[in-house]
Amino acid sequence: MRVQKKIIKVCGLKDPDNMRAVGMLRPDMMGFIFHRPSPRDVTDTIGDLPLLDIPASVTRVAVVVDQSLEFCLGIVERFGFGAIQLHGYQTPEFCRTLRKHCLVIKAFALRNALPVDVADYEGCCDYFLFDTAGTAAGGSGMTFNHAVLYNYRGHTPFLVAGGLDHDTSLNILDLPIPYMAGVDLNSRYEITPGIKDPDRVNRTITSIRQPRPHKQGNPLKNLRLQRVNQLPHPDENGYYGEFGGAFIPELLQANVDELKSVYKQYINEEGFKNAFGQLLNDYVGRPTPLYYALRLSELFGCRIYLKREDLCHTGAHKLNNVVGQALLAQKMNKKQIVAETGAGQHGVATATVCAMLGLPCRVFMGEKDTRRQKVNVLRMKMLGAEVIPVTSGSQTLKDATNEAIRYWINHPDDTYYLIGSSIGPHPYPDMVARFQSVISHEIKWQLAEKEGRQDPDYVLACVGGGSNAAGAFFHFIDNGFTRLVGAEAAGKGVNSGHTAATISVGSQGVLHGTKTLLMQNADGQIVEAHSISAGLDYPGIGPMHAWLHHTSRAGFLAITDTEAMEAARMLSLTEGIIPAIESAHALALLNKLSLKETDVVVVNLSGRGDKDMETYSEYYPHYEENKQKQ
Ligand SMILES: *Cc1c(COP(=O)(O)O)cnc(C)c1O
Repeated sequence: MRVQKKIIKVCGLKDPDNMRAVGMLRPDMMGFIFHRPSPRDVTDTIGDLPLLDIPASVTRVAVVVDQSLEFCLGIVERFGFGAIQLHGYQTPEFCRTLRKHCLVIKAFALRNALPVDVADYEGCCDYFLFDTAGTAAGGSGMTFNHAVLYNYRGHTPFLVAGGLDHDTSLNILDLPIPYMAGVDLNSRYEITPGIKDPDRVNRTITSIRQPRPHKQGNPLKNLRLQRVNQLPHPDENGYYGEFGGAFIPELLQANVDELKSVYKQYINEEGFKNAFGQLLNDYVGRPTPLYYALRLSELFGCRIYLKREDLCHTGAHKLNNVVGQALLAQKMNKKQIVAETGAGQHGVATATVCAMLGLPCRVFMGEKDTRRQKVNVLRMKMLGAEVIPVTSGSQTLKDATNEAIRYWINHPDDTYYLIGSSIGPHPYPDMVARFQSVISHEIKWQLAEKEGRQDPDYVLACVGGGSNAAGAFFHFIDNGFTRLVGAEAAGKGVNSGHTAATISVGSQGVLHGTKTLLMQNADGQIVEAHSISAGLDYPGIGPMHAWLHHTSRAGFLAITDTEAMEAARMLSLTEGIIPAIESAHALALLNKLSLKETDVVVVNLSGRGDKDMETYSEYYPHYEENKQKQ
């Protein structure tokens, strides 16, 4: 159950004028603290406060610490409190009795874990309130580790308290946590203890009550769901509508033509298909499971399956494509493989398959990426590949790609250029999509087994160049039914200048041999991409996705670094799966869609998070010290 309207409670009032000013802002609840050690105590002054001046829509809450039932009932009767908030050691029985007279809010103090006794209070309170441990009741300014709320299994709505300021309040209410009913604002809104700043309170109330931008309407309302009678192949020249083609230097023409004809010859040949299928099964580890994510489904109120590409050998979907292309390279009698890599995953996949087939391997990698992904560099070297750091440009994927192409031009006869995503000149985008389409092929029969139907309502995938999304969408594109949704990396925000959201901010142009959407300035210069995830840090998108976007067959939504990092934490805590940051972008889509209980949603979990542990650990605050956040 998602609690729709959020409760805003302002706590710790004690001054008549200030109380009236805050009351005018009409929070849902106002709290008065009966606890002598607190600077906000009203035990002796409550009789002087003009409680009747508070608008009737605002519930007055008495906050007590280990007081007797008589005391509680007394203040309810004398001062007309609509609710009592209990701090201390009251029993469930105490709550049950008190609840006959007013609303009961049971407070729990915590830091890094939910208290074990929360479940005992299920059914005898109206709300729980989770506050930071180790502080006197009311207003210490300290926060607890909000991630523990993902572990809440109760059915009593709860409020979150403890050091919330404007931003934390809004962020918390954005978390997809069922039964989270609202926030408690206290010390961070004060001028002095007990005196609130009405302007600050007003700003937060206004923001919370405003419809959140990404919750407005249906972001997929323009999708065109029409059955078409063909799978998504480009035409003879590699065009998906107006996107695609092969824009290559004269010097590469013969190479690309050769690849085109060999690809055409083998892609449907039985012997090739068998060899490819065998390696996918025995070497890559396919089929990958389609896992029904129970707790994630509960969080979002629909049926969520994870396609576990993270369980492929080397930790991501990339190997599917590499095995296919490396087999083609053998058919073409090529003597060595060159590749480019961003996050290092494609480099590792290529180095892996080259080692297995005994082919020399050269991997170009942006210098910046070699630093961000040290372990993958070591893996490639261990696998016998030569890693060549690229120091030009932004020192990331696009520069590595330029260098790899340059090398290929200089060694056209003996070298196979192995592209890692559904980008580049025809036939690469089609070929990569086809090798990755094993993902949606498996989803179909796996879903039929589990749900009795082959086609899900949604398929969600992240989009860097677009290979895992292409593979996950492939066999659903013609059904006119499944909503296909891609997550592109918004970085620090679509309009921040630090983004990789090509569909949102890009325009048509030619990049790495294909006509597609890309991020460029007015002079047609490529704009550097930014994303916290190295694998999505690419200023273009494959032509198939440009076409899916253009025809509205698929929707593409931008996911910020922050949203992805939060989604990663959510999956780790709810399912015990640490996703790659790339894949976390796809998971973050769940928060943007209006999902129904009957909806079957498949999230393509493109890779695992081992490679990202350093980024995760730098990103998440460490709560052990419970630092004062001042
Ligand atoms: C490389 C990578 C991506 C992005 O590449 P696509 O071609 O868009 O799939 C996504 N997820 C993971 C885990 C990756 O390694």
